[in-house]
Amino acid sequence: MGTERFTEYEGKCICGHGIYHVDNCSPDHSWPTSTPQWYESQIDCRHCHALYEIERRGKKFVLVERSKLKHREALRHEAYVRSEALMAVPSVQSALSALENLLKSQRSVAATCRVLKADSLTHYSEAEFRKHWSSPSSWVKGNIRADELPRVLALVKMAPAEVIQELSEIAALTKAASVSIEPYGPPIYELP
Ligand SMILES: [Zn+2]
Repeated sequence: MGTERFTEYEGKCICGHGIYHVDNCSPDHSWPTSTPQWYESQIDCRHCHALYEIERRGKKFVLVERSKLKHREALRHEAYVRSEALMAVPSVQSALSALENLLKSQRSVAATCRVLKADSLTHYSEAEFRKHWSSPSSWVKGNIRADELPRVLALVKMAPAEVIQELSEIAALTKAASVSIEPYGPPIYELP
C-alpha cells in the first residue's frame, strides 16, 4: 500500500536559493480510511531548512523558527525532569505513604473508590476501578504523578512549602511550553 501524491504548492524560499514544497497525499487505493487525505511539506534549502519548519495552521502553511520549537521542547523536558525528581523528595514520599495508609484503612474496595473519586484521583466507575485495583501500594505507584500531587496533598492534609513552590514552578513551565508559537512572517501558502 503506497501513497499517491501531487504537488499542492511549490514556491521560492525566503533566502531565494531553494524551494518550499507542499504535497497533497492520499492512500493509493479506493476504500475509505480514517485519513483519506493529508499534506506533507518540506523545505528544499539547506539554509532555510536549518532555520525553519513548515507547520500547517488550519488552511495556512506557515514558517516556524526551529530555535523556538527547540526552546519549547527544552521547557517541556525541564518540566518532565523536575516532575520526576519531585516524586522522590522525602516530603512527597511521606504524603504518598499517608495516602497509602488512608487507602489501607478503607473497609472495602468500594469505599476506597469513593475516597479517591471524591478528590478526583480516579475517574473510573466502581466496576472499572475493581478491575484495575490490586493493592494500595501498587495503586499509588501506578497512578500518582506530579500532576496529581496537589490533590493528594489536600486529601492527606499536608502542605510542604517546598513541594507547593516546586509544583507552581513546574506548572509555569508547562504553561510556557504550551503557548502556540507565532509564525515567522506571512503564511507561505493558503489552501483554497
Ligand atoms: Zn532558502
